Amino acid sequence: MQKQDILSLSFDELCDSLVELGEKKFRASQVYQWLWQKRVRSFDEMSNVSQQLRDQLAERFFFQTVKVAKPQKSADGSCKVAFSLHDGAVVEGVLIPAKDRMTACISTQVGCGMHCTFCATATMGFIRNLSCGEITDQFFILDKFARENGGNGISNIVYMGMGEPLMNYSAVMESIARLTDTKGVGLAPSRITLSTSGIVSQIKKLADDGFPCNLAVSLHAPKDMLRSQIMPVNKTNPLAKLSDALAYFHEKTGSRITIEYMLLNGVNDSIQHARDLAEFTKRFPVKINVIEFNPHPKASYKKSDKQTLDAFVNFLKGLNLVVNVRYSKGRDIAAACGQLASKVSKGK
Ligand code: SAH
Repeated sequence: MQKQDILSLSFDELCDSLVELGEKKFRASQVYQWLWQKRVRSFDEMSNVSQQLRDQLAERFFFQTVKVAKPQKSADGSCKVAFSLHDGAVVEGVLIPAKDRMTACISTQVGCGMHCTFCATATMGFIRNLSCGEITDQFFILDKFARENGGNGISNIVYMGMGEPLMNYSAVMESIARLTDTKGVGLAPSRITLSTSGIVSQIKKLADDGFPCNLAVSLHAPKDMLRSQIMPVNKTNPLAKLSDALAYFHEKTGSRITIEYMLLNGVNDSIQHARDLAEFTKRFPVKINVIEFNPHPKASYKKSDKQTLDAFVNFLKGLNLVVNVRYSKGRDIAAACGQLASKVSKGK
């Protein structure tokens, strides 16, 4: 029998496995606690579990863990971590401190297949999906790192690292279930945000599955022609369909949707673009995050100047929309999406 990643099991699945091994159900609570509260990453550390059961578990399961390859602190307080996986692949995570919170940004895939023209990760192409254990381990490592550096640990998670979370649906949903499970980490779903480039069928599936967390959509252009140029995903998931999916999502979940809009100089940053963006958001309640482009050598775009950004934001605010500006963090440590991992994997 092929060994299974123990970190991908729900509590009920763990119960079933232990009953199959001839154990009483309460053992499952103990093992689950070791995994998700005490956060051990070997069976031998489970000291109140019999040696026999530890051996049986080791025969049947393994830990799909990740290791830290390269933590880098930025002058602005953010910290970027490259994680190396069991097969030598590298993904990245970022710790972003703010006054009232500590946010972990984590990855869901090695590389990405969405081909967004402004994104450094896109240049790697899609390599593979991460497992549930590989996703949750990024959280554990960043949380430990945050605590060791004098903080309270992570309060919020954003699925905004490398990859398209909705193209790795089942592992991503499993990871959210594990991180929000009150028997384990117990993070409130409202503190988790999943960001997508806008996969229409999967947004509908999220709605049908009663997704309890926040949904963010990387829009970056409010009209099809431009959006298809900068985000090829738009060719098969055009704005009218995306709008329908988001309206459906809101109807089913009651949640407000976060729209991410990154300003690219001379590309999508005019007042007309802002007007079209406002039009797009009319069917459902939104919060708009206007994001500063983080330049990198693999994309020829430039960020918009301060005056253009202010005019864009003020226009939206004038329409009574909720708008936040997200200035890019950690520029000195190659924080644009995908930059650090591609540097590490090339051995630079
Ligand atoms: N695939 C998902 C999540 C990963 S990308 C998505 O598309 O939402 C996370 C966010 O970073 C997205 O909004 C993406 O558009 C943005 N991003 C990518 N490259 C960037 C760059 N160079 N500067 C600023 N934001 C960038």
